Amino acid sequence: RQAKYVAMRDVVPVTADGERISVLINAGLREDMPNLSLTGADGVGLYRTEFQFLVAATLPSRERQTRLYREVLEVAGSKPVVFRTVDIGGDKSLPYLRHEDDMHEENPAMGWRALRVALERDGLLKAQARALLEASAGRVLNVMFPMISEPWEFDAAKAVFDAQLAHLKTLGKTLPESVKYGAMLEVPALAEVLDILLPKLSFLSIGTNDLTQFLLAADRSNPKLAERYDWLSPAILRFIRRVSAAGREYHVPMTVCGEMGGRPLEALALLGVGIRRLSITPAGVAPIKELVRRVNLAEITQAMEGWLANPPANLREVMTAWASERGL
Ligand code: PEP
Ligand code: MG
Repeated sequence: RQAKYVAMRDVVPVTADGERISVLINAGLREDMPNLSLTGADGVGLYRTEFQFLVAATLPSRERQTRLYREVLEVAGSKPVVFRTVDIGGDKSLPYLRHEDDMHEENPAMGWRALRVALERDGLLKAQARALLEASAGRVLNVMFPMISEPWEFDAAKAVFDAQLAHLKTLGKTLPESVKYGAMLEVPALAEVLDILLPKLSFLSIGTNDLTQFLLAADRSNPKLAERYDWLSPAILRFIRRVSAAGREYHVPMTVCGEMGGRPLEALALLGVGIRRLSITPAGVAPIKELVRRVNLAEITQAMEGWLANPPANLREVMTAWASERGL
């Protein structure tokens, strides 16, 4: 694997018909960062900040958060990093951050988690905002909010950052060169209000891990449902196609940051529904670059139009055959 990484590191992911695809990595620990230069990826499309909280015995102080973000940005150098604010709660529960009622949640995935926690415990979000803004002094900060289900939540989270930014200014600190705010699309309801949400955003990231479980009502962690939890289901692909078309209409860059994008057949499907930016597991970068180099976008787009207009009984089988006929 290491040898393949090195061989593919400097290969630029351009499709056979000449379109540049962005291939980024997902990360969550300081130790993940060397994967950036090892794979030659374009940046970190999803930095899961909750990992620092999950491995700690107590709430990480603002100073510790700042130090980590600074280190991450240093390793990234000129490549962009998209920090996702904490996605804790639900099944990633922290013993030192419990709900007052110490409630038991029947459905933690759609429970008190992520931005829902952060907006209620706004001290947590304030500290994280301050840490991210300070760590990004003199450079661009890309930050995104997880599990947004209504546009006002984006406004509320952004307001916390804006207030911290104003505060840093009064302290005379060096500010980021600019701050770009994005949202994750994981809750399907958001797709109904894209006309309201998209004009507010610098970018949107589609979290297909959660999105798929919500769209198909199939728990992402239940092995009994593994076959139902299918990224190549026509409903999922039509949904992503619709979101991707809206992104184009509003000129908002769209990335898929779920695990789906790291699998060649699924990545092929994503290219076919208009996605041009993939943030994936580092091990997927070399195979996905190889796929990108061979694929003809016009061809897969046209094939996907046909499959989604009139879905075959087993799209996975049909796509597997299609891809192997073309040596993909
Ligand atoms: C997702 O839901 O697709 C995602 C990238 O976030 P996580 O896997 O951390 O829930
Ligand atoms: Mg998620």
